[in-house]
Amino acid sequence: MGRAFVYVILGGGVAAGYAALEFTRRGVNHGELCIISKEPVGIPLGLRQVPPYERPALSKGFLLPEAPARLPAFHTCVGANDDRLTPKWYKDHGIELVLGTRVKAADLRRKTLLTATGETISYKILIIATGARALKLEEFGIRGSDAENVCYLRSLADANRIVDVMKTCSGGHAVVIGGGYIGMECAAALVTNRIKVTMVFPEEHCMARLFTPKIAEFYEEYYESKGVNFIKGTVLTSFENSSDGKVTAVILRDGTRVPTDMVVVGIGIRANTSLFEGQLSIDKGGIKVNSQMQTSVGSVYAVGDVAAFPVKLFGGDIRRLEHVDSARRTARHAVTSIMEPGKTGDFDYLPFFYSRVFALSWQFYGDNRGEVVHYGDFPGARFGAYWVDKDRLVGAFLEGGSREDYEAIANAIRLKVPVKDLAELERSGLSFATQASQQIVPDSGLLTEKPIYVWHATAGVVVAVSIAAFAYWYGRRRRIL
Ligand SMILES: Cc1cc2nc3c(=O)[nH]c(=O)nc-3n(C[C@H](O)[C@H](O)[C@H](O)COP(=O)(O)OP(=O)(O)OC[C@H]3O[C@@H](n4cnc5c(N)ncnc54)[C@H](O)[C@@H]3O)c2cc1C
Repeated sequence: MGRAFVYVILGGGVAAGYAALEFTRRGVNHGELCIISKEPVGIPLGLRQVPPYERPALSKGFLLPEAPARLPAFHTCVGANDDRLTPKWYKDHGIELVLGTRVKAADLRRKTLLTATGETISYKILIIATGARALKLEEFGIRGSDAENVCYLRSLADANRIVDVMKTCSGGHAVVIGGGYIGMECAAALVTNRIKVTMVFPEEHCMARLFTPKIAEFYEEYYESKGVNFIKGTVLTSFENSSDGKVTAVILRDGTRVPTDMVVVGIGIRANTSLFEGQLSIDKGGIKVNSQMQTSVGSVYAVGDVAAFPVKLFGGDIRRLEHVDSARRTARHAVTSIMEPGKTGDFDYLPFFYSRVFALSWQFYGDNRGEVVHYGDFPGARFGAYWVDKDRLVGAFLEGGSREDYEAIANAIRLKVPVKDLAELERSGLSFATQASQQIVPDSGLLTEKPIYVWHATAGVVVAVSIAAFAYWYGRRRRIL
């Protein structure tokens, strides 16, 4: 049994949805494109099919206690204020969806994929968009995370499970393991669902890969004001269970026992590369691609969380980014280079990510290396930090900014604005970026393509517009993505 397509996208997440839309815009014919995804199908989810959706909604609007976001509201590509790709959209565009189907082997020489159901699907061009999976406690030698009240969060099925478990714990207590963005966003959602939270992580402060101690202090105090308790600098070593197998307490390295009604684990992710190891070059834990998103095999591209690509802005340094904006843009770029070979420029990306919790909202652009300069009204409504390396601005963080503020910091990072005096930078604060972004010389050679900061500025509007659209959909103003 077998089918053949010109283009196959392996993986049905964020990147797959954005790639599909780009294919249709660049003139793919009916029957040429197929998406294969293992995301579950069926009655427990109340959905027959789960085509690509905006994954960030799972830790935000999806977990709201009242009128939560539900599919089909957040199918891709609403996060970029673009078309919402429902199952009907794929049908109308002649795109074959092979859902609920895991690919278990790939033969890149023969250009075939073998599914777990025994079907062979062949392609001329393959786009790998397999994303990443949540790391399990078992991989660190801790057993018991299969208990029914221990949750992870990567897929819609995981999010449904968290919702079900939360319902049984209202007024109770949860332990969140991990202080990254999944842990922080889940902790906020649990509190909003009237569940008391203790966060446990080994670092000295939350969001240790990005936040400075000063930035982290602000968020931790904010969380504490909402009733979240932090236990830092330690790890979970085991679970205590009731006779029916549910976790009733977590035991920490120093012997501390924290009673709980549920556990949410967010301890990082690993890119899904295993099908291709030995067949493709691997770097930074992902599939290495060039500036066209092409792997070491010419007919194979990789996009999204699984791709490790050269970041021009960082001197061509290979990075694997685990963020939605990168997934959307790498996907679009790969399709453009497939459909317009020879005409597509190098991918020139400004790394960008964001988070929203409670009434807070931050954005980060660039790289967090070099010296840090904080600015703004700490602790207050609008503050941030710049990172300066080799006398140039390389990264900027801002909490509580306006669309113009975010546009300004993005622009300043894009331009790698020179910094002569750190004290002056601290005094100027946000106005440093604002002024720098007003001094663009159009033909300076720095902005040779459509400026990404414009896109990011648009992204700010886009997020606002899509949020408004969702608010309309649910009859209220609130944030889901
Ligand atoms: C809860 C949550 C909240 C997030 N919030 C934010 C945020 O606020 N800001 C931000 O910047 N980023 C956020 N992210 C990260 C963002 O969602 C990811 O960067 C993005 O989803 C990556 O897209 P992708 O298409 O590469 O991978 P994914 O969206 O993970 O899709 C991969 C797909 O491939 C499928 N697949 C994998 N292996 C196989 C196989 N062998 N056979 C068939 N199918 C397969 C998977 O089932 C999945 O459908 C969040 C992520 C999560 C989980």
